[in-house]
Amino acid sequence: MRPIDHTHSVDLKSWVESANEEGSDFPIQNLPYCLFHTESEFHGIGVGIGDHVLDLSCCKALFAEELQEYIDGHNLAGLMEAPVADRLAVRHRISELLSLACDELQGNEGLRDSALIPQSSVSYVVPTDIRDYTDFYASVFHATNVGSMFRPNNPLLPNYKHIPIGYHGRASSIVMSGQEVRRPIGQLAPAEEGGSPTRGACKLLDYEMEVGFFVGTGNALGETISIADAEDHLFGMCLVNDWSARDLQKWEYQPLGPFLAKSFATTISPWIVTMEALAPFRCPVFERPETDPQPLDYLSHQQNQSQGGVDIRLEVALTTAQMRNENQAPHVLSRGNFRDMYWTVAQMLTHHSSNGCNLQAGDLMASGTVSNRERSSRGCLLELTWDGELDNPVPGTQRTPIPLPSGEERKFLADGDEVIMSGYCEKDGFRRIGFGQCRGTILAAAK
Ligand code: CA
Repeated sequence: MRPIDHTHSVDLKSWVESANEEGSDFPIQNLPYCLFHTESEFHGIGVGIGDHVLDLSCCKALFAEELQEYIDGHNLAGLMEAPVADRLAVRHRISELLSLACDELQGNEGLRDSALIPQSSVSYVVPTDIRDYTDFYASVFHATNVGSMFRPNNPLLPNYKHIPIGYHGRASSIVMSGQEVRRPIGQLAPAEEGGSPTRGACKLLDYEMEVGFFVGTGNALGETISIADAEDHLFGMCLVNDWSARDLQKWEYQPLGPFLAKSFATTISPWIVTMEALAPFRCPVFERPETDPQPLDYLSHQQNQSQGGVDIRLEVALTTAQMRNENQAPHVLSRGNFRDMYWTVAQMLTHHSSNGCNLQAGDLMASGTVSNRERSSRGCLLELTWDGELDNPVPGTQRTPIPLPSGEERKFLADGDEVIMSGYCEKDGFRRIGFGQCRGTILAAAK
C-alpha cells in the first residue's frame, strides 16, 4: 500500500494557479499521467496540473539521472515497469517542481513556457502499448441485476462469491476518449426459437461504466503474484467505457462468454491516476453479508480487508445530437461508487496471475460495470431501463425508457449520442482529485 505523505497535504499549493481552484480535477495532490501531442508534434508523457499539461521530457534535466529514463520514453511503459520506490521518487520530484515554494521550474521562464501547455491545445493517445486487456465482473449488484434478466430463478451463479469472474477482452480496439465509436453489425438472435438468425446493425447498443487499472511490474510466466504483493504491481487507474451490443451478446455469449458484442471498441479516459495519488482514498473492502462465503486464502489478506477498496465517485451523463443543437447540458443518467465492488483490484490481479499467467507492464484490467444497490447507481442502460428490483428479481424484463430534457427518450443508445463518464475522490482533510472524463459518440453503422 502506498504511503500518505507530504504530496497529499491539503495545504500544498502550485504556482500553476488553475490547479489551486476549488473543484479542479488536477490539483498538485493528483499529478495523473497521460501521453499527448499538440497539432504540430508528439510530446510524450504529460502530467495533469490544473488546466495545463506538464511535458515531462521537456524538463527531464531537472530530474535525478537515474529517474530520467522513465520519463523520456515514447510511452508510459518504462515508468509502469519501474520499482515502486522509483515511481514514488518521480512523483515527489514532480510535486516539488510544481509547488509554489520551489523556484526551479517556476523561475525559469523559457523552460516553463515550453514545458507547460494548455490542455485545450493538446490531444491524448492511449498511454502505453496495451498488449492484453481483461474485463472483470466485480459488482455483485450488476451481476445480480443482469443475471435476473436472463435467469430470473437463478440470478447469481454459484461460483460468483468464490471467484473473480472475468474474460479476455480485445486490446487492439481500446480507443482514446473523444474518438467516435461506430455502431457494430453482427448476428442477431432468431425472432423465434428454432428460426434463423439475421445479420444487421446492433439495435441494443449500451455503455458500461467501469474503472480500469494498469499493471505496473508484471510476473514471469509460471509465477504468481500473492495478494500481499498485489498492490506493488498496480500502476494506476482510469475510467473505462466497455461498449456493449446487447442483442449480439444475447445470441453469442453461451457457452464461452462475450466476444464480438464487446470487441468492437472500449474507450478509456486519457489520465492515469496513480496508486500513489489514490493513497488517501483507500477504504475497507465491501462488507460481505454474514451468510456469504469468505474468499479462499490466496485471495485473503488483512491489508486488503482494511484498505483494499478505493472510494471513487462515478457519474455517467448523456447528450443527444438534438440536445447539443439546443445547447442543453448533458443529462446525468446515474451516479455510483467504486468502493462497493465485491472484489478488490488486488484480488482481481492476484486471481489473474494465480494459474501462472504472466501479467505485463501496461496490461489493462477493467472492473466490470460499477453498479450499487440503488436504482440510481446502475452503471449501464441494460440495468437502468429494467423495471426489476434487486431484491425481487422475478418481475422479468419490462423496460421503461429514460426521459431526456429534450423530450426524447432512450432505452438504448441512438446514433449521435455521446456518453460522458467522470469520476473523482473526495475525503475530509484532503484535496479532491479527479479522473477527468471518458467520452465517446456513436456513429451510424457502416452501410
Ligand atoms: Ca464489462
